[in-house]
Parts: sequence; C-alpha cells; structure tokens
Amino acid sequence: MSHPQPAGTPDATGSADLGDLTVLNPATEEVVAVVPAADAAAVDRAVTRATAAQTRWAALAPTDRARLLRRYADTVDTHVEELAALEVREAGHLPGNARWEAGNARDLLLYAAGGVERLTGRQIPVPGGWDVTFQEPLGVVGVIAPWNFPMPIAAWGAFPALAAGNAVVLKPAETTPLTALRLAELALDAGLPEHLFQVLPGHGRVAGRALVDHPGVAKIVFTGSTRTGREVMERCARQIKRVTLELGGKSPNIVFADADLKAAADPFSFLDNSGQDCCARTRVLVQESVYDEVADHLARELAAVVVGDPTDPATTMGPLISRQQVERVRSFVPDDAPALRGGAPDGPGFWFPPTVLTGERPDSAAAREEIFGPVAVLLPFTDEQDAIRLADDTPYGLSGSVWTRDLGRALRVTQAVRAGNLSVNSHSSVRYWTPFGGYRQSGVGRELGPDALTAFTETKNVFISTEGPAQ
Ligand code: NDP
Repeated sequence: MSHPQPAGTPDATGSADLGDLTVLNPATEEVVAVVPAADAAAVDRAVTRATAAQTRWAALAPTDRARLLRRYADTVDTHVEELAALEVREAGHLPGNARWEAGNARDLLLYAAGGVERLTGRQIPVPGGWDVTFQEPLGVVGVIAPWNFPMPIAAWGAFPALAAGNAVVLKPAETTPLTALRLAELALDAGLPEHLFQVLPGHGRVAGRALVDHPGVAKIVFTGSTRTGREVMERCARQIKRVTLELGGKSPNIVFADADLKAAADPFSFLDNSGQDCCARTRVLVQESVYDEVADHLARELAAVVVGDPTDPATTMGPLISRQQVERVRSFVPDDAPALRGGAPDGPGFWFPPTVLTGERPDSAAAREEIFGPVAVLLPFTDEQDAIRLADDTPYGLSGSVWTRDLGRALRVTQAVRAGNLSVNSHSSVRYWTPFGGYRQSGVGRELGPDALTAFTETKNVFISTEGPAQ
C-alpha cells in the first residue's frame, strides 16, 4: 500500500505550490491569514542580522539576560488567551489544550531563564595548574517546527537556545505560522534585542533547506517526520553542523491483565490532538486474557467521543490539520478494515473518526508506521517477553506506557523497552523540566529538562599553568 507523502519533500507527488502561505482554519476551511513566504535570500539576511544580535546578547551580563527572559515570560503570560485563540484557529486545537500550550511556552521561558546564571563550567584537578571548562553559546540556532504543536515545539527549540546565549531563526510549518510570529513580536515587546529571535514563515523545501544549508547557522533543531529529519541530518553532515532531531513515533501502550483497565485503555492516549502527537500511544498491546474486555471498553469510549469544531464546548476531539493529512490517515484505514469506530462530522473541515483497528498483523503498515491521526491498532500479547518484543517491533522509540500493578514487572519492562520517554500507570510523557527525545529513528539528542541549555553550547576546556615561565 502506498501512503501520500507530505508536500514539500523531495519526491512528493505533484507540484507543491511555493507561493504565499494560506493559513486555513481546519475546522471550517475558512482563510485565517495569508502570510508571505520567506525565500533563501530572506533567510540569508535573517542569519546575518541574527549573527550581530547574538554577539551583543552573549556580551550581556547573565543576570541581564535572565531578567529579560523573565520579562518575556511575563509578557507571554498576559497574552495566553490571545495565543491560545490563535492556536485554536490555525491548528484546530481544543481551547483547553491551546491554553496549556501557551502556558507551556511561558513556563519554559521561566525555567530557561533560571538556567542562565547556572550555566556553569567545571574545575577539574590536574597537575601543574588549574583546569576549567566553559559552556559557550553556539551562535545562531535554526529551529524548524512542525504543525502539530506549533507553539510548544517552537518554544522547546528556541527558548533554551536563547537562554544559553544564542540567537534563533525559527521556521514554523507552513500551515501554522501565526503563533510563532506572535511569540516573536512579544519578545520585542518584552525588550529582547531586535533580531535575536526571528520567525521566518516559509516552505520547508525553500526556507527550511536554506536555514539548514546556511554556513552561519551553527545548529539545527528539527521536529517533524523521520523522512524529512533524515534529509536534514544528511545536509547538516556536509558542514558537521550540530543537529537535534525529534522525529516520529509509534508508541506502545502495554496493558497487562492486572492493570486498571479503564485508565490504561483511555482512548485519549492516542486521540489527544486528534492523534497528531508524536507520543500518541497508537499501538495498544493488551494481554490476551483481557483483550475482549479492553476492546469492549474502547468501543464504548470511541462511540462517546464528540468530534467537531473546537470552539463548541461539547467537542472532545477536533479536526486534523489539512485535507492532505486526512487523505494520508485514510490510506491506512480501508473502509472494510475490521475496526472499532466513532463518528465524525460531514461538510467543511478536515475530519476523521476515532478508530481502533482490530484485525492488523503486527507487521502491517498500520501497526508499524506513524499514521498521525486518530487511529490506533489493538494487538494481543501472551506474556512479558512477548509484550517487550512487540513494543520494540517498529523502527521508532519515542514514548510508551506500561500498565500493571506488579512493580517488579513495571521496572523490568521499562528497562527493556528501547524508548526515550516511558510512563508507568500513566499516559503523560512531556514536562518542560524533564528530558524529551527518542531512541532509534525517533531522533537524535534531547530537548527540555535540566540539560536543555547545555545542548546549545560548546564545551571549552582551558588549562592554566601555575608554574609560570622559568626565572
Ligand atoms: P515534515 O517533517 O515534512 O515537516 C516538518 C517541518 O519541516 C515543517 O516546518 C516543514 O515545512 C519543514 N520541512 C519540510 N521539508 C523540509 C526540508 N527539505 N528541509 C527543511 N525543512 C523542511 O512533516 P509534514 O508536515 O509534511 O507531515 C508529514 C508527516 O510527518 C505527518 O503525517 C507525520 O507522520 C509526520 N510528522 C511528525 C511530527 C512529529 O512530531 N513526530 C510532526 C509533524 C509531522 P513545511 O511546513 O513547509 O512543509
């Protein structure tokens, strides 16, 4: 089976329109905004401006940089409602989720600001002198963000980079540039230096590539598909450019028979954000003795999901981001596939019903590939070893959950599964103060957490002789 490839990839079928960006409300298909797209020359100018701004920024006292970032956090805080409303309109997120996302950007700013004065080196004992290390900023960091969580993911790349003394040029996804543009305006309102944090909406194949290829950009932070991430990494390799990749996922939800089955089989573990979440637990692995019970529970829960316009308070799941994404998701779900299904609206908007495929083989495309929509597969396992084998049976390793009341088993399984972010008896994955990232084809490097700033520095080691020149 072939699945539609995203526009903007080198071998995408059809010709991608590389003109201005038309931002649609995915719930209504109404035009929210038309935004000019940056070309390679605009990227070049932005990097030149950022280089000058970074030199001045890094020369400021750490206390001053921290104070400005805290002021920026305060400014974001007073605009949480506005930013959230923008996210609802351009990305189709539920208002509650969108408020959380704006708050996440604010909180990460405060957390990163707290790191500025703590970005210390080390003193290492050596004979004949002193040895000290410094964490120096890289220079200009390029951030390429996706459309599924436009605001938090932009923030995760940009804010720790700024706190570590870098300038940032951010290219948001072409479908969702508005919240990032607003965040950059708010940075200026808060008093951050001009050109320190620039947002350049544009097409991946043009502005994204120009940022990746620009010799003045020291590091790329990319979040998106494994396919595009591979290209970004190859291009970065030509310049030995630093790169962090946060890529796809096909995360397991491992449900043992002794678990709290209702909590474990919460369909919002894969339906949140309409399943457009790299951490979505889209492979529900259930011990065979409770498979039927879990399937019955999921059938009832899917029927109760209210899919609709996010501005309707009754809605519990919104639209997908685009018609193209609906087509991509549909390509994994033939009409006659055995499945549990909920409902979805007709008419304008990009809709797909919540779906759990029940007849998939573990090696099918739907069971192994990232679908990025409200679709999970339900697969039985026999015992602990079988669960671990199935959990790891994809090229990915981003996230996952383990549900059991047996503590020893929970520990054994979380140690065995090859993934960067696991939860026991919980579906939560992401906190700005804990590290986030993937094993294997889910990515390279980590974002967030206590080492977030360090990822935007080079370590310099200096030895100072105490012996002095011979007298
Ligand atoms: P992409 O990975 O292609 O896009 C992510 C970002 O990269 C966007 O800003 C995009 O710009 C940019 N980009 C695209 N091509 C290049 C390039 N050659 N060089 C530099 N930057 C580039 O994902 P799509 O939006 O096309 O989504 C397709 C699929 O990817 C989804 O169905 C999903 O499976 C997966 N995905 C996974 C995400 C995750 O967090 N794991 C996030 C988003 C998507 P532009 O918007 O202009 O294309």
